Amino acid sequence: MEEYDVIICGAGSAGFCAAVAAARMGMRTALVEKYHTPGGTLTVLGSCSIDQFNNPYIKDRKMIIAGIAWEFTLRLFREGYAHIPDMNAERKAHDQYSVKVNPVAAAKIMDDMLTESGVHLYYGQSAVDVTVAGHTITSVLISTKSGLKSLKAKIYMDCTGDGDLAAFADASFDAGDGNGVFQPGTLRFYPAVSMPGRILSDGDNKNHVTMDTTSSDSITQSEIASRKMIYEQMKQGESIMAVAPAVAAREGRRIAGLSRLNVEDYFAGTVFEDSVFYTYWFVDIHRENAPAQIRYVTHDRTPTIRLSAMISKDFSNLMMAGRCISSDRETNSAIRVKASCMAMGEAAATAAALAIREQVDVRHVSLDQLKQTLDQNGAIIPGKERVFVRESH
Ligand SMILES: Cc1cc2nc3c(=O)[nH]c(=O)nc-3n(C[C@H](O)[C@H](O)[C@H](O)COP(=O)(O)OP(=O)(O)OC[C@H]3O[C@@H](n4cnc5c(N)ncnc54)[C@H](O)[C@@H]3O)c2cc1C
Repeated sequence: MEEYDVIICGAGSAGFCAAVAAARMGMRTALVEKYHTPGGTLTVLGSCSIDQFNNPYIKDRKMIIAGIAWEFTLRLFREGYAHIPDMNAERKAHDQYSVKVNPVAAAKIMDDMLTESGVHLYYGQSAVDVTVAGHTITSVLISTKSGLKSLKAKIYMDCTGDGDLAAFADASFDAGDGNGVFQPGTLRFYPAVSMPGRILSDGDNKNHVTMDTTSSDSITQSEIASRKMIYEQMKQGESIMAVAPAVAAREGRRIAGLSRLNVEDYFAGTVFEDSVFYTYWFVDIHRENAPAQIRYVTHDRTPTIRLSAMISKDFSNLMMAGRCISSDRETNSAIRVKASCMAMGEAAATAAALAIREQVDVRHVSLDQLKQTLDQNGAIIPGKERVFVRESH
């Protein structure tokens, strides 16, 4: 049994930032990822846009997310593998402020930042179960080349996107619309044309497919249906160079937390005592055969994310970051964008590290100390928006 302070399952946008944050705080940190590459939806599954670092509707269109997410973006930019738009420019569409990255370079820079921070990496190894004693998780079981292995930690973080780790523990959750309907997933593919420059554009985003992300059988059927769709497009003359290894999911479980983010607070831009960072995107519920249901945030307030929505209500040492945090469906469709998931990872892991250092339950971590630490580490906490300075990168 190998022992850590923090074990993070899932190395997507949230898990990557969580692991770097925990390890930099001196935690013995393990990161378990079922693919052999970090980055999740951003890299492996071909959705190469990161939204959104600024809120264009507040004065000066200020940056509202920075920290490890921005450090990663700047490292890619300096190597020529990220396009950062001018966030001071006035534009109409929200996605005009998207950062675009090359997924191959993005995974390599993630490897660099994770190894530099001293994270113990378990690539190509899925978390398959947990053991539980009362309201505590006592170990996570992972599948390795030499069979099943048990890892132990003080705090476990579910960054699997779909909330698989929490589900193994039988934690309570909501999923989809509550009646078995989920937003469709998309199998991204890359056309066989040479791309100018170094930034690979997003894979195609047209192929919507029904998928219940809580059911392996449903996922199997949606993989088959997506491949068929892409095959038909090839038969009709589309040249396709590569396809992502799996359908990218928009919606999975939303694990019950000590609080639940709701759409009223989201649009009001409510700042709670435990609001630890800002988030920004529109409510964006995709549907299979109909346009997405969209509701824009177009005012001078910025929504926030609470620490308590990232702490399980059922298990004292389970935290969530990324798409699976505690939220209603509308809010979840907005907060799932990648810059927000990255900020969640950093904030949740920083709270975990402070709790372990101070030997307190993460529910009792000092919020002042947490905000101060995030601020010192370069993250943006509510009230401290920053002007985007183009020359700085
Ligand atoms: C088609 C599509 C287009 C999108 N477009 C945009 C966009 O333009 N801009 C934007 O900002 N956002 C976009 N999003 C949303 C965004 O990409 C995701 O919500 C976000 O990447 C989720 O991050 P995450 O870290 O929570 O999960 P993920 O990126 O899904 O990472 C989860 C990780 O956990 C791993 N994992 C899962 N289960 C296990 C297990 N049992 N053991 C170990 N590892 C496990 C996975 O392999 C994965 O690496 C899009 C999403 C989709 C599906």
